[in-house]
Formats: sequence, C-alpha cells, structure tokens
Amino acid sequence: MDFVVTAAKWPTPGETIVATSFNVFPGGKGANQAVASARAGAKVSFVGAVGDDDLGQNALHNLEAHSINTKHVHVNEECNTGKALVTVVNGENSIIIDEGANGSLNEVHIEQLTALFTEADIVLMQNEIPFRTQEKVVEVCREIGVPVVYNPAPARKLSRPFLEKVQYLTPNEHEHRAIFSADKHMQTAFQQKVIQTKGKDGIDFWVNHDLRHIDSMKVTVVDTTGAGDTFNGVLATELARGYELEQAVVTANIAAALSVQKKGAQTGMPTETEIAKAVK
Ligand code: ADP
Repeated sequence: MDFVVTAAKWPTPGETIVATSFNVFPGGKGANQAVASARAGAKVSFVGAVGDDDLGQNALHNLEAHSINTKHVHVNEECNTGKALVTVVNGENSIIIDEGANGSLNEVHIEQLTALFTEADIVLMQNEIPFRTQEKVVEVCREIGVPVVYNPAPARKLSRPFLEKVQYLTPNEHEHRAIFSADKHMQTAFQQKVIQTKGKDGIDFWVNHDLRHIDSMKVTVVDTTGAGDTFNGVLATELARGYELEQAVVTANIAAALSVQKKGAQTGMPTETEIAKAVK
C-alpha cells in the first residue's frame, strides 16, 4: 500500500511541516503490473505476501476487484503488509519502502507453485521480493520452459546465472545504469534481452541482433506514476498472447502513454478496449 503525502517543500532534517494532501492507494510494483495486465485483458494469478492486517486485506480486495487470482498470496501473521511512504513536492517524489511481508516470500513458497507456473504463458517479476526467491522463480520457469519478463525495479545487483535464465529484461534508464554501467561485458552478454524504457524518450530494444528504437507518444502528461508498471503489464500480456516482441512493445508504449494522461498509478491504467482503440 502506498501512503502518499504532498507538501509545498521538502522538510529539512529535524523539521516538521504541514502536508497539503494525504492519500492511501493500493500499490507495489508487482500489484500495479498485475492490475495493468488484468486491465489489458490477461488472466492473472498473483504470487506475493501480505501481513495479517487491514492493509493486507485491502490489497487483496483490490486485486480481486480486478479479477486477479489471489489464492497464491501468503498471509503472514508475523509481518506487516509492505508499505511505500511517498512524499511528493512539486511533482517530484521521494520514497521509503518498508518491505514488510514481501520480504518473507521464500523459495519454499515458489517450489509449491510448479503447477501454477506450468499453466502460465508468461511470468512477470519485479525486485520487491528477496533475490533468493527470484532465483528460485527463474530456475523453476527455466525447467518448465515458461518465459520470464523481468522488470529489475527497484534497482539491485544481479548475477550472470540469474540473467541467463530470464528472457526479457525491462529496466528504465536508472536501472539500466545500475545493472550495466560498471560492467560493459555484462551489457554485451545480455543486451539482446533488454527492452529499455526511457520515459518520454522512447524505448530501445533488440530484434535479431539489431537495435531498434520506438519513440514515446507525444501526449499531455498528468501523472507518470505507474508508467513503467503499465508498460510491463501490457508487454507481458501481449507476449503471452503470442505477439512478436516489436508488436508487443508498440502496444505497451501506447498503453503507457494512455496511463500518463491520467492521475494515479492503477487508476490511470487503460482497459483492453481503450488500448485497442488507441492502437488502431
Ligand atoms: P518508469 O515509470 O519505470 O520510470 P519510464 O519512465 O521509462 O519507466 O516510462 C515507461 C514507459 O512509459 C515509457 O517507455 C513510455 O512508453 C511511457 N512514458 C513515460 N513517460 C512518458 C511521457 N512523458 N510521454 C509518453 N509516454 C511516456
């Protein structure tokens, strides 16, 4: 869950200031991307963890309201539901995350989900769960032969064996730098898998050893929160439907452009009908 406070200025250390607004929204990259996929028409199962508290129940109800299967979400009595404390000043935000129950999703949980992964056309994963759990996900998916779209957000250090097991890697510019700037050999080894989103500056990706670029749509931006999540959710949906990467990127780019024209992360995400209308 996201706790979003807006203020006229940043407080200095030790200072107390009065907010101009405060709201609580369902959030988390995984949940946002699941909602983007469901809105785009995918049948989605969510794997994650919440605490045994009101926020956890709210998070689950929100997913269920989008027809997302929450049967595989663990309710952990010993943890709080994960939270993001977001401060917005003049459209810029700073965020502190309390991972809570997300940190408790472990390898054993994943091992028990082989049947679910076997049924899946695609698995979409982010960095808001422990790295060892992610390693188990890519290992299981590799064994079964289900492709993984891996959104490396928030940025974290990655190993080569891990990246070898993902099919698609979707960093934004900051995450791309975090993964590759210190290791150019790593970039050469894995660049074919990279679909790099660059905000208003478009998307770079590779098709058959050729670097391709698609421009972002020229739109009036209201709120870019959740743009990357919309992009990832729709990209995974289109790939799951069997579209080629280039076509999937085109559609995801259009969907993300629709999302930035509306306020809020999940509330701004387009429906299947809205995407189809805009793609024409
Ligand atoms: P993140 O939200 O993860 O930081 P980006 O900022 O790279 O990711 O945005 C993801 C995608 O959202 C972009 O590739 C683009 O398709 C779309 N997008 C983001 N900002 C804009 C914008 N100002 N105008 C049009 N499309 C945008």
